[in-house]
Amino acid sequence: MATVLLVEDDHVVRSAMLRALTDRGHTVHATATALDALRRVVADPPDLIVLDLGLPDLDGADALRMLRGITDLPIIIATARDDETEIVRLLRAGADAYMVKPFTGPHLDARVTSVLRRTGRATRAEPTTHQVGQLRVDVGQRLAQLDGNALELTRKEFDLLAYLAARPGQVVTRRELLEEVWQQPWIGEDQTIDVHLYWLRRKLGETAADPRYLHTVRGVGLRLAAPG
Ligand code: CA
Repeated sequence: MATVLLVEDDHVVRSAMLRALTDRGHTVHATATALDALRRVVADPPDLIVLDLGLPDLDGADALRMLRGITDLPIIIATARDDETEIVRLLRAGADAYMVKPFTGPHLDARVTSVLRRTGRATRAEPTTHQVGQLRVDVGQRLAQLDGNALELTRKEFDLLAYLAARPGQVVTRRELLEEVWQQPWIGEDQTIDVHLYWLRRKLGETAADPRYLHTVRGVGLRLAAPG
């Protein structure tokens, strides 16, 4: 169960979302403006923010940017705009996931749970440490260690490593990574994964040509496995 800050100005949509989340045991604080949301995030940070993009006081992209300026909390954008270019832009600007309206209560709850789990903020007890060879990934603490040494990873590098470490030995497709780790719709090949992968490999002390843990499966995706 989580504390959710719901930012939505349409009172019909807001009460439906509020009911759906409270029915599933979440604590929900609702507000209708971006500026009030910013104030609340500072005063009493929730576990997660659900942000409507069409607010009366600030454009959704500006609201997202300002929130990202003050907090690293997971943000799900809820939008009526089924515009993939805009969605991709907002995800790159720091949103963790998006939902296109209208959506159902169970769908919203599932997305909230999945984002909390992926960002290591799950509040339900579940095993969150993965050990692959000498690589240890503690999702709850957001700590990764290799050979006993802590790895300094960015948010997305950690998310990518944690996703792969939860599936050792399995081939994970690039599409799955983009959709599940970046929560971006697949609109064809792009460089997002490669850039993060390049840095992750460097931090693991390996290269694509000479892999130890991270293996490229040509034309398919990636596989994380213990060496040897
Ligand atoms: Ca709205």
